[in-house]
Amino acid sequence: MSVESQSKYVVAVVGGAVSGAEAAATLADRGIEVVVLEQNLKPYGKIEDGLPRWHDKQRAQEYERINSKLTRPGVHFVPGVKLGRDLGFEELARQWGFSAVLLANGAWKDRPVGLDGLDDYVGKGLVYQNPLVYWFNHYHEKGYDGPTYEIEDDCFVLGGGLASYDVVKIVMLELAGKALRSRGHNYDMLTLEHKGIAAILAQHGLTLSDLGVKGCTLYYRRRALDMPVAAYKENATLEERKKTEEVRERLLQNAMSKFLFRFEPLHLPVGFLLENGRLAGLRFIRTEIKDGKVIQLKGTEVERRTTQVISSIGSIPEPLPGVPQKGEFYIFAEGGAAKLTSFDNVFGVGNVVTGKGNIAVSRKHSAGVADVVARDYLKVPAPVASDTAFGKTEQKVHGQTASVADAVQQLKPMTSPQRESLFGRVRELQKKAGYDGDFRAWIKKVSPPDMD
Ligand SMILES: Cc1cc2nc3c(=O)[nH]c(=O)nc-3n(C[C@H](O)[C@H](O)[C@H](O)COP(=O)(O)OP(=O)(O)OC[C@H]3O[C@@H](n4cnc5c(N)ncnc54)[C@H](O)[C@@H]3O)c2cc1C
Repeated sequence: MSVESQSKYVVAVVGGAVSGAEAAATLADRGIEVVVLEQNLKPYGKIEDGLPRWHDKQRAQEYERINSKLTRPGVHFVPGVKLGRDLGFEELARQWGFSAVLLANGAWKDRPVGLDGLDDYVGKGLVYQNPLVYWFNHYHEKGYDGPTYEIEDDCFVLGGGLASYDVVKIVMLELAGKALRSRGHNYDMLTLEHKGIAAILAQHGLTLSDLGVKGCTLYYRRRALDMPVAAYKENATLEERKKTEEVRERLLQNAMSKFLFRFEPLHLPVGFLLENGRLAGLRFIRTEIKDGKVIQLKGTEVERRTTQVISSIGSIPEPLPGVPQKGEFYIFAEGGAAKLTSFDNVFGVGNVVTGKGNIAVSRKHSAGVADVVARDYLKVPAPVASDTAFGKTEQKVHGQTASVADAVQQLKPMTSPQRESLFGRVRELQKKAGYDGDFRAWIKKVSPPDMD
């Protein structure tokens, strides 16, 4: 790689999925060079390992979007490097000489249920969403050697967000698919999901109970109308809010009729039951919603028995030594474009900032922050049209404003020896991973033939 006649700024992006690829392309389009450090061999993040594999067309489309962004001129991909394991955060941010670092490492830690001692039962009745969906998306691959799960009938799913719908569907598809197969009705997962369990059973004149399947129950501390599966419009009137709430209720009803799971609203887990060293159930307290808050109703505790509890109550960023954190989140400065408080040159994009957000929101947020970093921090002019990329919705979602000009000093361009030294290190990392710079050939090489 020639270092002459190249950009005077080089930015590191940690994580190469939706947000990382978007940031990389946004910066590269402004002539800034970007090094994308990705812990996995493939850069697809939650698209490959979170979005369930029945979203086959959407996943293929998103893979290609990421591919096309990571192959822009000026983007250098480095697979198989995990920040915090293979490379220290402080070292990357302060010693390698990058003009800026963008954290696009998403939210891969499951939010704990928060009951003292419950996490001791992971693998003994307690399952968390992230590894479960990873398994579901990969277990059909011949070479799969990750954790395996046996879904238990009559299990509980804790949640209420969009991802918990997916978890409930995974459970029902696994339970019904297996029971149908045992009667000689072989349906692949895609057909079961697209047609729905109820319709397939009806074709055979069967019910779930004919199959001896009870199905699972989704427990939520709020009501169906509170589920954040459809968002309120900005500045929505009371009437518009009511309409959104009706949509939420309808979405739940539709999902329940198609996939035959049960729903228990207004239940908050407050304790758990054990038997023979395994989880044997949960103790819930009933709740009510007052002014948007969950109120526990005294004297309403109930015990519900089950052999498996799957928690799907949200994802948070994995702690990174050296990255300041308050509670579950990294500390990004108020009034900056997701700038890390104790570093002038580190910013966050996408899911890593709040743990939330869908693909479109993550992409838009990432393009917006990258724009601001280029424009206000590196002083590289941006095309006029992109000034609007950091839209109002995303500013609100991430609680940020769009300018870092007041928060950071303008950076000095890198010198040639600095670039030489930096790219020497980057090439070493690529070599260690066996990556020769041909992104498409690499993806082909590391993708299993039976990958969805
Ligand atoms: C079950 C589920 C269902 C969903 N369904 C939908 C849906 O239907 N529609 C929708 O729009 N959105 C959906 N989403 C949300 C969507 O997938 C995410 O908002 C989006 O993909 C986040 O992109 P990201 O790049 O910010 O994070 P990620 O996709 O998490 O990417 C982070 C990247 O960083 C890498 N990384 C992590 N740590 C390190 C490290 N220390 N060093 C180096 N690399 C690291 C990871 O390997 C990964 O490639 C769903 C999410 C889940 C979990």
